[in-house]
Amino acid sequence: MTMLKKNETYIFIVTTLIICVLFIFNYFEPLEVKTQDYRFKRNINQRVSDNVILINITNEDVENYGPWPFKRSVHAKIVDFLKEAGAAVIGFDIIFSAKSEYASDDEAFAASMRSAGNVVLANRFVQSEEMLDTKTFTEKYTIDDSHDDFKKASLAVGFVNVDFENLNPDGVIRNVELIKDIGGSREISLSLKLALELLKYKSRQGLEIKNYDGYITAGLHKVPIFNYYTLAKFSVKKSGAYLIKFNGNSKTGLFPSFSYTDILNPAGQTLPKSFFKGKAVIIGAQSELLPDVKLSPLGTIPGMEINAQIVDNIINEDFVIRPGRFFSSIIVILLGALIFYFLIRTEPDFFDIAYLGIFIAAVVSAAYLMYSQLTILLEIVAPLAEILVLFILTRFYQLFIKVHLTNIDLTVSNRKLEQKVAELSALYDISRTITTISDMNALFKVILEKTINIVNAGHGFIMMTDEEDGAFKNRIALSDEAAVIKSLEPLYSSVLKDKKSVIYNISDRPSAKADGLFSANPELKSIMAIPLTTYKGDLAGVIILANKKDGEVFNENDIQLTSVIATQAGFAIENANLYQLAVFDSLTSLYVRRYFLGVVGKEFKRVRRYGGSLSVLMTDIDHFKKFNDTYGHQIGDLVLKSVAGVVRKSVRETDIAARYGGEEFIMLLPETDPPGAMIFADRLRKSIEDSAFESERGALKVNISIGISSCVVNRNDKTANIKFKDVDEMIKCADIALYNSKEAGRNRATLYTDGMKSKVS
Ligand code: GH3
Ligand code: MG
Ligand code: MG
Repeated sequence: MTMLKKNETYIFIVTTLIICVLFIFNYFEPLEVKTQDYRFKRNINQRVSDNVILINITNEDVENYGPWPFKRSVHAKIVDFLKEAGAAVIGFDIIFSAKSEYASDDEAFAASMRSAGNVVLANRFVQSEEMLDTKTFTEKYTIDDSHDDFKKASLAVGFVNVDFENLNPDGVIRNVELIKDIGGSREISLSLKLALELLKYKSRQGLEIKNYDGYITAGLHKVPIFNYYTLAKFSVKKSGAYLIKFNGNSKTGLFPSFSYTDILNPAGQTLPKSFFKGKAVIIGAQSELLPDVKLSPLGTIPGMEINAQIVDNIINEDFVIRPGRFFSSIIVILLGALIFYFLIRTEPDFFDIAYLGIFIAAVVSAAYLMYSQLTILLEIVAPLAEILVLFILTRFYQLFIKVHLTNIDLTVSNRKLEQKVAELSALYDISRTITTISDMNALFKVILEKTINIVNAGHGFIMMTDEEDGAFKNRIALSDEAAVIKSLEPLYSSVLKDKKSVIYNISDRPSAKADGLFSANPELKSIMAIPLTTYKGDLAGVIILANKKDGEVFNENDIQLTSVIATQAGFAIENANLYQLAVFDSLTSLYVRRYFLGVVGKEFKRVRRYGGSLSVLMTDIDHFKKFNDTYGHQIGDLVLKSVAGVVRKSVRETDIAARYGGEEFIMLLPETDPPGAMIFADRLRKSIEDSAFESERGALKVNISIGISSCVVNRNDKTANIKFKDVDEMIKCADIALYNSKEAGRNRATLYTDGMKSKVS
């Protein structure tokens, strides 16, 4: 889970960083100005200015006083008029760069300006390296200036530059520079100069400009400017600019406006001179010949109105404050953090669209409120971009992870399921197999083989436990692996003690005990030992496995699997035990009489149906009562056991030998005819006669007597000569033959013949 949160944090950091960088380097500017313009238009403050008056040179003026350029004496008359009317300051938004051919007119203009004493002329700095025709201030700036003679006559000169490249890249004027430092001198714009002179006129104090870091301070007046960055030649340069607050548009006549004709030839119209008293007057061109039209956020307006608006803003202290890039970046970061917190606390869902809408609405509303109430023009594109990008990226990532995790989950559980099915079917297979095996050795071999297969072990063997004292009795291995077996044998005793499965992996920094095992055989990497217990809880043996074939190590799942096998094996071992008890005689290890009778019946029926031969032998030890009396029952038992041993060794694998009574044995010899049976009987009798049975009373000898019943059934004529009615009769006849052997003097074999004398008769 922490992993996921970490990646979401990366998304947050990277998104915020990218948005801030894009923002600081002005990449959102085109979008940003659109939102600003919209807010400007909705907050127009409509009132006619009582600070600034415009004088336009109109088409009518050109007809009356033209052609352009006017004789300078015309301008002189305007200046004279305004002086008389008591204008506070007069600004020409016209550059008089050269003297005209009429020296007297030029002189009259200069004289009027000198006399008025409050005329501010215009100049313009051109950022160019080619223009070397006029005075060059720096390598980069040339100046389009008013002629020196006029400048001398004026109060001051203010620049009328508009920086389009850096401040107004879309050609719409919103921002201007009020001050420029060029070539070591501080230049002031025409509008700021006019505003300062008007302030001076209105007797405000301390008009000296102090600095412009965030503010231009002129006495008590603080004119806010903001920092902007230019990316010229990849070196970011910080500069100050003023954001104009447009309060109305030209159509509604925010600034009173007159033409030259209105002033110089007021035919039938009286202009109250007092109207100009104490005002700033800006003179500029607005005729078809001299179009000075600028694009503002409110639409096209006369160029002069840009200056007029700035003067009005400054006098009325009516500004728009624009937070710096730093402040706006902080907002982007804080807002990002808020959304990030929201996103990691919630999961993608249907209502995300609503939440996204709420965030956006909150930012937009805040921006509007700040502008309408506090005239703070907050940038909103960067915060909105932050909301959108962060929201979408994080949610997509979270959705992707969710789907991905679900898939992984499904794949993993599918694989686990498949494995479990495979294991279960293997286990079923194993349990079915081992429960049908009654031979203990064969059973252990199958258990071992299946266990090795299911856990994919490289080596394995079973150490069987002696029933009586639990000591190691017998080892079962599938192949000869002497080296491995020898190095792993010590495991037997440790499992024997705890009766618990153990795993030792060389990679797990094994314990000192396991360390010994690994150092004994460098081939060993992973070892597992599982106790084999009967369902009564007795230890029957220990399965010991080593090294998986695929190089992996044994794990908990392997223990589980083998434990299931071991449990099944416990039942099988128990079954085999019971079977053994039921089928074998404990003293002689020959089959018991009941088992013999079951088998011999089947064999008899087989011969009767399909033909062939069959013999039954019955033996009885001669004078065994006397033997017992002489040596005791215990030695009698011992000898009885030994005789049984001789019997077991003498019969073929297909023969079946059982203990029939106390010291009587019975043998079934399939596919053996009377002569064959006779030969076998003599050989058996002889080997017992020749045996000396060792005992504490020395080597002892016994003889046996044998009776044989034997039949041959013709394969082609099966009904022809069947000698016995059933198997009982056949056993009875063997008994009769045995009786005859005894009668004839013992230690001999007799074949039953028809009419043979029986005991009873
Ligand atoms: P014979 O067969 O030669 O006629 O004489 P016998 O003494 O062997 O007679 P019989 O076969 O009838 O005797 C059976 C005796 O065998 C009785 C008993 O003393 C002995 N016997 C039977 N079962 C056992 C046994 O399990 N252990 C021992 N030690 N003796 C047994
Ligand atoms: Mg007997
Ligand atoms: Mg006997």
